[in-house]
Amino acid sequence: MIRVSNIRKSFKDHVVLKDISFDVNEGEVVVIIGPSGSGKSTLLRCLNFLEKPDVGQIEIGDVKLDVNKANRQTLNKLRMQTSMVFQHYNLFKNKTVLENVTHALVVAKRMNKEAAKEVGRDLLKQVGILDKQNQYPIRLSGGQQQRVGIARALAVNPYAIFFDEPTSSLDPEWVGEVLRVISKIASHNKTMIIVTHEMNFAREIADKVIFMADGVIVEQGTPEEIFDYPQKERTKKFLRDFH
Ligand code: ATP
Ligand code: MG
Repeated sequence: MIRVSNIRKSFKDHVVLKDISFDVNEGEVVVIIGPSGSGKSTLLRCLNFLEKPDVGQIEIGDVKLDVNKANRQTLNKLRMQTSMVFQHYNLFKNKTVLENVTHALVVAKRMNKEAAKEVGRDLLKQVGILDKQNQYPIRLSGGQQQRVGIARALAVNPYAIFFDEPTSSLDPEWVGEVLRVISKIASHNKTMIIVTHEMNFAREIADKVIFMADGVIVEQGTPEEIFDYPQKERTKKFLRDFH
């Protein structure tokens, strides 16, 4: 499971995360929603130590640590537990599609190149772009590039995948294909945390929805609880303004 306990994060005197705690069970999909600036991206970045939280405890799979007591080796282990899919893909522009997917396998996991290519091709097939394996990212549509990003995230077989607004940079015509790929991965019981503004998608895919505002979790529950029967005024306002 993922267990996040009492995470706090400030940038100078701006408190961005105020005592965040939540759990994600193995195989669960948790969707985080909330207004711009509420701390959603910072939270994901704190969980894999792209940002160092100020205080708190993080447990992901079989790695458990206190953010101020962990040694480098434990931190590296924690980082290896998750992969991130970014809004802006962040693909290597000078590598082919297949090389983008196999890079971490060859460099971090020290897999031999041929074996890595086999894994990479299998993943590209899963996300429906095996035919683009030898292209460079620039030749692909936004939706195709993001599917490469997803295949790359899957390559190291992480305990969990974090998605930070995976469709927000896409032209509307490419959103559906990327959401379908994410749903397919979810159906294989991959543990996932997804930050998204796609409310219909959130309702369909989430086991649990977390609503964040101003650095706190205002409310969390099933999609029905949050979307149909929100309890807090702040949640109701956000959902109202969204429509
Ligand atoms: P959005 O929906 O727009 O992506 P968000 O919920 O992901 O918003 P964050 O990106 O986590 O919000 O930002 C939360 C707050 O922290 C914002 O006020 C932002 O300006 C601030 N912030 C984020 N990263 C940094 C940083 N590296 N340095 C200083 N302030 C930061
Ligand atoms: Mg964000």
